[in-house]
Amino acid sequence: MIEIHNIVIDGSRVPLHAPSWNPATYEQVVVRNLRRILRSPVGQAIAPQITRRLRIIPTLKIKTHNASAGADDPVGASRRGLPIRACNGVTVTDPLPGYPPGTGVGSDATIQFVPADFYDPTRGVRFGWIRFPPPGLQAEYQLRQHGAGAYSDEVLCHEMVHAIRVMRGVSDCRRVGYRYDTYEEFCAVLVTNMYSSQFRRPLRDGHGTAARFRTISPFDGPRMQEEARWIDEMRRDQPGFCHALRSKTRQEVPYNPFRDLRPGSVPTYGVR
Ligand SMILES: [Zn+2]
Repeated sequence: MIEIHNIVIDGSRVPLHAPSWNPATYEQVVVRNLRRILRSPVGQAIAPQITRRLRIIPTLKIKTHNASAGADDPVGASRRGLPIRACNGVTVTDPLPGYPPGTGVGSDATIQFVPADFYDPTRGVRFGWIRFPPPGLQAEYQLRQHGAGAYSDEVLCHEMVHAIRVMRGVSDCRRVGYRYDTYEEFCAVLVTNMYSSQFRRPLRDGHGTAARFRTISPFDGPRMQEEARWIDEMRRDQPGFCHALRSKTRQEVPYNPFRDLRPGSVPTYGVR
């Protein structure tokens, strides 16, 4: 187990399908990914938002490679007064029975993540070993390995955005459109796209896809107007975080709606 400030990395649980498992190696590789994130300009905005305990543990059981972030206390994690929803981000967004409304007091969070399930840019090799390549899904793996938002540090950054919103008690898993699945996924994809742009990586066009986001300029179509409203909502929920993101320069963070999206402005971004 490794502790860095509020973050505990614990590889002691052995994932299924792992051909071999070394907790210490797992923890070191997670730390390497974490350092890459926290040293970056976007990561430096994320770091002060980790105000509660964050556990990072291996994903135990997966159908296709994926990662997740969950609230230890879903009621505290949810925005005050909101119904509690299954934040699985994909299919179920109906309110869960048996929960009181959200209190917004915040919650500790747990991320399930195995860097070796993804292409790891901190590893220095093209492919890490893949823990669980499901038969027949190799093509999807290839696409995802090289797709937008699919590198291991991008995946961890995405989950950390979920985690800091849980900690702040502003989680809102209502369904939204444009392939984002839920509002929480929009927030995670948005900030991770900013993170990816630091490395001139392609941006991700929604959730549950590794397709590239090409139509991000200008903010005038219906989709971008909707995104602009969601961004304003995020500014209200996380003013300190969004202010820190806004301060990042074009050179540091080329894709940065918090900086560029102002009333009357028409940002343009280059995407490779
Ligand atoms: Zn997510």
